[in-house]
Amino acid sequence: MILIKNGDVYSPTSKGEQDILVSNDKIAFIQQGMVLANTSLPIQILDASNCYIVPGFIDSHVHLIGGGGEGGFKTRTPELLLSDCIKSGITTVIGVLGTDGTTRTMPSLLAKCRALEEEGITSFVYTGSYQTPVKTLFSKIEEDIILIDKIIGVGEIAISDHRSSQPTKHELARIAAEARNGGLLSGKSGVVNLHIGDSKSMLSMIEEIIDETELPITQFYPTHINRNSYLFEAGIQYAQKGGFVDFTTSTIPHFIENGEVKCSVGLKRMLDSGVNIEQITFTSDGQASLPDFDENGVLRGMKIGKVNSLYHEVKDAILNEGIPIEEALKVITSNPARILKLQNKGQINEGYDADLVFLNKKTLEIETVISKGRVMLQNGELLVKGTFE
Ligand code: ZN
Repeated sequence: MILIKNGDVYSPTSKGEQDILVSNDKIAFIQQGMVLANTSLPIQILDASNCYIVPGFIDSHVHLIGGGGEGGFKTRTPELLLSDCIKSGITTVIGVLGTDGTTRTMPSLLAKCRALEEEGITSFVYTGSYQTPVKTLFSKIEEDIILIDKIIGVGEIAISDHRSSQPTKHELARIAAEARNGGLLSGKSGVVNLHIGDSKSMLSMIEEIIDETELPITQFYPTHINRNSYLFEAGIQYAQKGGFVDFTTSTIPHFIENGEVKCSVGLKRMLDSGVNIEQITFTSDGQASLPDFDENGVLRGMKIGKVNSLYHEVKDAILNEGIPIEEALKVITSNPARILKLQNKGQINEGYDADLVFLNKKTLEIETVISKGRVMLQNGELLVKGTFE
């Protein structure tokens, strides 16, 4: 058991100063000035007097076993390390394959997902990669979602990109329909996570499917919406129709110079355009390859996406863009939990999973991280590392 004293709790909405009692992997009680009469119980007490206590962060688009490799085999990016998540306050990740659906496979992704669970954080995956037809574990998308506990949807399917399989509208509608049924029958979200590339066709295929079928706009979960200014503007209109929009926090200065919208700035702009924050999420695209193609499509450099960019952009949104902490935090806590139907995640409530991050009130730096009731980082010191770290 852990008793956290005097923290200023943001769930992410403010709950004021509270004590939190953690029992095993759950939040057992939240009360002001909690006093435990039987002091012989083995209870670890953490003082959080100078901290905000916020929900553990959810990063719902991470290449857990690496991704990409658009510069040949030597550019295949490496696996995610547990410590990278912990140091970044991330206690839940959703894994994706990405560009390479040949040498990176669903069994391998699922094994890594289970490894991260064993190491101490919560992990799920989407079935499939950029490519269509979707390479599933069983014969259909809905079977993967219904039969495998860790599979919560399909993706990331690439559209509007030169690396996409160029699916037709009918193919994409069929994929969404299978994912929807899989989600309905298993109580999962069953969303279609869509990689949107640089092509000018942008979100038009999704919008046509919405117009021509019974599929709701919330069946689709497009990401990389901030990758250039024209997609960002289209993303605002898409969100105004009720769609979810996911921003990618990993970037390199050259991308920003070329028109990518910095997430913290983009969040402010989208809110100013009247978009409801409940529809907006950030993900890191961690361990993705960040290939830098020139105007002729020739690769000129390669970097790796970092999960530590996730909270970094939220912090910038609070400190530099003036977005209140209880609003900004939603994009990496309660919003992904609700959109992806992650039970007992994304908020600080009794009975919820004990995934907690302590932020220094002055600097907003991450001080302590608790995942599934276990202290993983304390006062900036990493206590738990991955198996081979
Ligand atoms: Zn992508």
